[in-house]
Amino acid sequence: MSTSRIDTTVAIVGAGPSGASAAYWLAIRDIPTVVLEKKHFPREKACGDGLTPRSVVQLEAMGLGGFLKSKHLYYGLRAKAYGKALEIPWPKSPEYPDHGYVVTRYELDQAIAENAVTAGAEVLQGYEVVEATRSKGSRIESLVAKDKDSGKVVEISAQYFVLAEGANSRIARSLGVARDRNEPMGMAIRSYYNTDRSNEPWIESQMDLKDEHGHVIPGYGWVFPLGDGRVNVGFGLLTNSDRWRSINTTHALERYVTEIGPDWGISTTNGSKPIGGKLQMGHAVSPRSGSNFLLVGDTVGSINPFNGEGISYALETGRLGADVISYVLSHPNTDLSRLYNSKLHGAYGNYYALAKRFVKLISEPKIMAPAIWMATRNERLMTPLVTVMANLFSIQDPQVGDKLYKYVERLASLARVAKTHS
Ligand SMILES: Cc1cc2nc3c(=O)[nH]c(=O)nc-3n(C[C@H](O)[C@H](O)[C@H](O)COP(=O)(O)OP(=O)(O)OC[C@H]3O[C@@H](n4cnc5c(N)ncnc54)[C@H](O)[C@@H]3O)c2cc1C
Repeated sequence: MSTSRIDTTVAIVGAGPSGASAAYWLAIRDIPTVVLEKKHFPREKACGDGLTPRSVVQLEAMGLGGFLKSKHLYYGLRAKAYGKALEIPWPKSPEYPDHGYVVTRYELDQAIAENAVTAGAEVLQGYEVVEATRSKGSRIESLVAKDKDSGKVVEISAQYFVLAEGANSRIARSLGVARDRNEPMGMAIRSYYNTDRSNEPWIESQMDLKDEHGHVIPGYGWVFPLGDGRVNVGFGLLTNSDRWRSINTTHALERYVTEIGPDWGISTTNGSKPIGGKLQMGHAVSPRSGSNFLLVGDTVGSINPFNGEGISYALETGRLGADVISYVLSHPNTDLSRLYNSKLHGAYGNYYALAKRFVKLISEPKIMAPAIWMATRNERLMTPLVTVMANLFSIQDPQVGDKLYKYVERLASLARVAKTHS
């Protein structure tokens, strides 16, 4: 079969939130952009469907505020553990709204991809990128993609490439990108259930979930109401030690649904088939770019290690990648890789360093259990914790880094004291 060719300025692998965001921010600057997406929209995606205020900011900036207004709005988090529940509203902040939305990825990803097309990007659906060819060093020469419907092969040449393939990152791995196995990693699974409580104005998380031996797991269960007669129920955990890696997530989700079933009017027999995936966190992959390509979203491991949130960071890193490429196009002597890495570090370096320390701490059950116990009994402890974990503190506060650091240190020492007395 003959190979056809596409020539463009920027080629993007994947039209999830990160790839479609990069495409949008390139296209509105009139930069010719082609996105290759192996699936056809709308499509299912394993996700809790929770959009925090950080995501809302990005989606509104792309002109998707009207789309969001037709979806289920919520005001904050109901945190539950050890028989207690605290309802913590999203913080008041000059940068972020005081609300989020719950939107199925079936609808959201289609809307973001269509928005990129409206802005001028070309999104080729059903095209799987099967190979990236390299000329020399860390430079991509072209991509080879297969139209899954016709079997037709296309070769795509571009000046710059964005890898936005999600967590499996086959193409990035073929270029030598690898995850640092000492850094945090997670797994999550979700299912949909019909319920009368689908219009609740809170998302809920259960922080004291146990394994089959009764040990508290470093992770949480969630119920995110969709406002359409359903809730998204899921379970996510940190898997950086062998002990937690072996947990059967399907069984853990069943135990959680059994526990909350009477409260939410759901049962293990009336849910959709559970689907799950990996959570690549804390930018724990390298290299994150080459001389003419960069990684965004889950491919660059942009999920927040504090809470497993990834959509906002996918949208943000897609935008950051587009900003960098646009700058390099008008300043051709700039080192793209160096610029992108320094921008990533500036935007997330300190916060993710803190998050990784926190994760190592709470992966230790003897510290985690008393820390959760204490936090759910003390609103003054829980409110800043939720703000820090969702990365919603005000960036206008010059002391924010110090305050954050002190806060996590305090929580750690309280938990250590609790551990020695347990
Ligand atoms: C169970 C679960 C629950 C989660 N819950 C939440 C939540 O509630 N809120 C939140 O903010 N985050 C959540 N996350 C994380 C969130 O889903 C991800 O961070 C987010 O999807 C990352 O977006 P992305 O664009 O980087 O990757 P993806 O959304 O994975 O998109 C990648 C796209 O690339 C395409 N692709 C892959 N390979 C190729 C190829 N070779 N050629 C062409 N196309 C390709 C894929 O088909 C896909 O469309 C959850 C994750 C899981 C697993």
